[in-house]
This record gives sequence, C-alpha cells and structure tokens, in this order.
Amino acid sequence: MAAGSNRQILLIETPKEKLAASNFKLDIGEIPSPKEGEALLKVKLISLDAANRAWMQGATYRSAVEAGTIMTGGAIAEVVESKSPDLKAGDIVFGDTGWQEYAALPARQLQKMERMEPLSHLLSVYGIAGLTAYHGLLDVGRPKAGDTVVVSAAAGSVGSIVGQIAKLKGCTVIGIAGGDEKCALLTKELGFDHAINYKKEAVGKALRAAAPKGVDVYFDNVGGDILEALLFNMNNYGRIACCGAVSQYDGAAPAHGPRGIPGLIVVKRLTMQGFILTDFNDKRAEALADLHSWVNAGKIKVREDILSGIENTPQALIGLLAGENVGKRMVRLD
Ligand code: NAP
Repeated sequence: MAAGSNRQILLIETPKEKLAASNFKLDIGEIPSPKEGEALLKVKLISLDAANRAWMQGATYRSAVEAGTIMTGGAIAEVVESKSPDLKAGDIVFGDTGWQEYAALPARQLQKMERMEPLSHLLSVYGIAGLTAYHGLLDVGRPKAGDTVVVSAAAGSVGSIVGQIAKLKGCTVIGIAGGDEKCALLTKELGFDHAINYKKEAVGKALRAAAPKGVDVYFDNVGGDILEALLFNMNNYGRIACCGAVSQYDGAAPAHGPRGIPGLIVVKRLTMQGFILTDFNDKRAEALADLHSWVNAGKIKVREDILSGIENTPQALIGLLAGENVGKRMVRLD
C-alpha cells in the first residue's frame, strides 16, 4: 500500500503520579508496508483498559510501555493487505495495534474474529472483558447457587458482566461502584440485589447491612481499602478472585495495604487466587458459546461506552481511571 499519513499517540513520558494528557503526544507517522507473514491493519476500535495504566508501572505479564513509543493497546482492526496465507483483506482481527490508525503486524500475533454487528461486542462481552468476567467468576471464584457474591468496579466493563453471570447462577449479588447513578444502573437495570457507593458509604458497614450472613465470593477489581473491607466480611472458605487492583494503578503507591492478612485469611481459610485471562485459553470456545447464548436470551445486558477520534484516546484512559465510564470503554476510529 502506498505511504500515507498514520495518526498515532506516543507516550512521551512515563507518569510518576496521576496520568495526564501531557504524558502523551499526537504524532503523524507513515502507513507501514507489511513484510512477509504480516498484515496491514486499519484500526477500527481501540480498547481502553485500566491495565493500560498498569503497564506504565513496569513489566508484568507483558513488557512495560516505554516512553517515546506508540502507546500500547489492543484493538479490533480490519485487514487491508495481507502477506500471510492465514489472513485476507476484509478479515476482522484483534491484536495489539497500539494507539494508531494503521499497523503492520505478524499474522501469528493476531486473533481472527467473526465479523458481527455491532463490532464493538468483540471488545466488550465477547472480548477480554466478558471472558475475564466469565473465567474469573466461574473458574476462580467458583460460586454456588445461594452464595453471596460481591464485585468491585461493578459498573465497569468486567464488573458489570460478573454481577450478571453471578445472578444467572442463582447468587445474591452486591456491586460496589463510585456514584449513585452507577449504583442505580446496577440494581434497576442489571439485576444486582444491592449496590454500594464507595465514594459515599463506609464499605464495611454497608456490606454488613447488605450481606448479614457474610460474603462467599469476592471478585476483586480494585484492591486497596475495598479489598480490606471485604476480608473482614468474608465467610469461612470464601474465595477471592484477584482480577486487578485499579485503585493502585494511577499514582504513587498507596499509604497502606490491606490489614488483617494473618487473622483473616488464615483463620477463615480463604482462598485468594490471582489469574490472567490467557490462563483459560483452552476453554475460550465454551465460554464464548455461553456468553452468546446469555446475550441472545436477554440474560446479559451489554453496556458500552464508545468515544471517537484517535486524538481522544489519552483523555479516554484518564477518564476511565477516574470512573467516567459505564461498561466497556473504547474509541472508534473512522
Ligand atoms: P473498568 O472496570 O471498565 O473501569 C475501571 C473502573 O475502576 C472505573 O470505571 C472506576 O469505577 C473504577 N475505579 C477507578 N479507581 C478506583 C478506585 N480507586 N477504587 C475503586 N474503583 C476505582 O476497567 P477494566 O479495564 O475493565 O478493568 C477492570 C479490572 O479488571 C482492572 O483491575 C483490570 O486490571 C482487570 N482486568 C484483569 C484481567 C485479567 O486477566 N486478570 C483482564 C482484564 C481486566 P468507579 O466509578 O466505580 O470508581
């Protein structure tokens, strides 16, 4: 393909405190030419993830995002030219394109996706968010009918699906979210039994009122003080699915971590298990089949939060970390 302009967002400086627009710069590169085995992609929907910020803190399950490079991130893209026998023009793929309009990537690093309407569902319920909710809850949290399940960042992309799956499995579900509107969405639209606004209420006290018999499964998206409040409210043999710790991604390290580890985790025989979605790759087809059937039957409502324009991706991530989003946040490129 002939060279042309490719707008891209560079991380120009690794943030030491809160992420700011000044950490990024809009740049104009060239549309790359695919090499043998690669495909040239036109990016359609960029996924905004709390993890984007965590990747700036250092290497984790992936290498750190380095200052001076195109900001890393997953996206749904369309193949415009292919030099791989595995892909052809018009195919829809998911891959780490970074925050730019075009990318050339090896076909083996791309996941071919089914073209569907709306395409955004490939990033929300049928993407990382839905699959993380599914496996984290069912394979790690292992709820039984009648259990009390609590999920934090409950109005976010993963949390909103966790709560709905837990309801499908016959559990009492409590969501923790930052704001009255988010809490109303959880109980009035998404079928949660209770919602706690952690910005207004003391979480421990609110949990004792909403779950007088204690909590059996906690799906932890936030870590920090909310995790500590849950430790005090877990039942014996409770399970904590450690999905992430968004309260600790953006800024300096927290002043204190959860208290009560020996007394609470040991005495209550709790299981705390971290997980990364890719641990469950072999069960992906089964999970997707369940998610499709629940969405088609109206048992899971999909919430998406779609912004547009590559120039708005930095602010979209800053806003996600501040709790602006309801459901899966993404940026559409025209
Ligand atoms: P998201 O839940 O859609 O959005 C993040 C939400 O976190 C915000 O909307 C905000 O909602 C909440 N939040 C921000 N700061 C907070 C704080 N200090 N205390 C409590 N809540 C806070 O984002 P996401 O990308 O889907 O990520 C959710 C979690 O899943 C993250 O921990 C992420 O790392 C994890 N994750 C893990 C895997 C895995 O494989 N383990 C895969 C995907 C995602 P409020 O208004 O409620 O504050």
